[in-house]
This record gives sequence, structure tokens and C-alpha cells, in this order.
Amino acid sequence: MTQPDQLRLLAVHAHPDDESSKGAATMAKYVAEGVDVLVATCTGGERGSVLNPAMDRPEVWERLPQVRSEEMAAAREILGVGQEWLGFVDSGLPEGDPLPPLPEGCFALVPLEEAAAPLVALIRRFRPQVMTTYDERGGYPHPDHIKTHEISVHAFEAAGDPDSYPELGEPWQVSKLYYNMSFTLPRTKAIHEAMLGAGLESPYAEMLERWDPAKDISHRVTTRVPCGEYFGIRDRALIAHATQIDPTGRWFSTPMDMQQRVWPTEDFELARSLVDSPTPEDDLFAGIRSRADEEVGAR
Ligand SMILES: [Zn+2]
Repeated sequence: MTQPDQLRLLAVHAHPDDESSKGAATMAKYVAEGVDVLVATCTGGERGSVLNPAMDRPEVWERLPQVRSEEMAAAREILGVGQEWLGFVDSGLPEGDPLPPLPEGCFALVPLEEAAAPLVALIRRFRPQVMTTYDERGGYPHPDHIKTHEISVHAFEAAGDPDSYPELGEPWQVSKLYYNMSFTLPRTKAIHEAMLGAGLESPYAEMLERWDPAKDISHRVTTRVPCGEYFGIRDRALIAHATQIDPTGRWFSTPMDMQQRVWPTEDFELARSLVDSPTPEDDLFAGIRSRADEEVGAR
């Protein structure tokens, strides 16, 4: 295989803040290694709420979309990534029984062909070898996360096909497609048990009781990227999304050294691969780096 001139990673996310909670330490690690990392954010997060009591103020609510855009700018600076908006409108998380209809014009309601077009154009322009997105259930059942999965799979196929979207640039075939799989039952259990073992109060007891083992997807994990030393950067990026994250909340209650010891990886499922990369693996670019690169890396 010819040596790629520059490694490029494209991470597709639904809302501003998702990039900082799903695969963020992995991105920071690859940035540190010289990989060009770009985040595509499908929506502006316009229908998100203010989830941090300290930010729940009228002057924040008045200009929430702009505040979220500023938070995104701060987070991408901390992660060292590029970031582009795909320009869709947040669908919101429908709640109630029966569920209310999705708001007109929202991302989840845009027909697939049309919704995938900006991503196809971005792939052809940025030319990533590796792309990450969510699994078919969206990681969790938010309509925008499921739609993010759908357009990513569609664009992975279409961007390399000269007959698809011929007006959107030269075809580019991404080599590997991954699903983020970091929130698994075994990981949550391991951290829960470590906290109890250290005499700390675990915030996960209730979550674990409600977790249906039949819905655990950890058996699908193919790829564990060691990135514990970048968990601090991940947390700082997440805290930059101040309206979305309470820095005194559950996410931050596990001591850093415990997280790094108990589960020092972020985990992924290799969903599509056009290169030879036997699993399990620990590198999203396995099979893409030239042999020479890998020897340098091993030294
Ligand atoms: Zn989201």
C-alpha cells in the first residue's frame, strides 16, 4: 500500500457537546500524533436545554444558540480539532406518552439523500481515511443521533461513488467506518465497583439497576484505543460546553487516576473496512498506516 501523505480522521456528531463526550480523548490523542482531525456537527443544538444550574439564567436562555456556538469554539480549541457545521436544525428529544410529533424542518425529518449531501461534500473535500459515527440505535435513542448514523452510513457509501452526488466534488472512498461504543455495561460496572471498593459513593447504582443486559452492546467492540492520558483534555472540552454540563455532576465524580486505571481506553466497533485490519485492534488507522510508519511508531 502506498503511504498516505497525511492521516485524517472525521468524527460525525449530532450536537455541539457530543464530540466532547464520545471519542474526545481518542481525537486528542490523534491530534497529538499529528493526525488532522475534523468534527462534523450535524445540528446547532438549538433545542437543547440548559443542563447546568449555574448557567440557568435569562441572559443565557436569550441567546442560547449563540452561546452553544461559542462553547463549541472553545471545545474545539481545547481538543485541537477542526470543526464544521452541517447546518441542520436540532430535532429535540421528544418526551411524553404518546410522543409529540417532531418539529417541522428538523434534522430527523430531512429526507436521507438530502440530509447526507453536506456530509458527502465534506468527505470529498477533507478526504479522511477514517470516519466515526454512532451505531444504528444512535448510542441512545435521540432522533438526531439515529439520523446522524443514517447519513454517515449513506455518505460512507456515496462519497466514493462517482455516480452519486456528481455535483459535489471528486469521489473519495473512506477506508474505515467506526461506531462509538464507549458507554458499555462492563465499563460502567467496572467503574462502579472501583468506586465502591475505594469507599466512594458510586453515581451509577441506579443506572446499573435499570440497565437491561440484553441491550448491552459490548460484544460488538472491536477496537480499544488507549487514551487515558488524554482524559483530562476530554473533561476540559466537555466543561467548555458550560450550558450542557454541570462540572459538579456525576460525569466528574470518578477520580481521574481511577478512570485511567480501570478503563484507560475509548472503545469502538469497526463497522466497515476496505483495508486489511484484523480485529481486535487498538488503532483506528490500523491497516492504513504504511509499514514504515508503524515501525517508527513502535520505536
Ligand atoms: Zn447529542
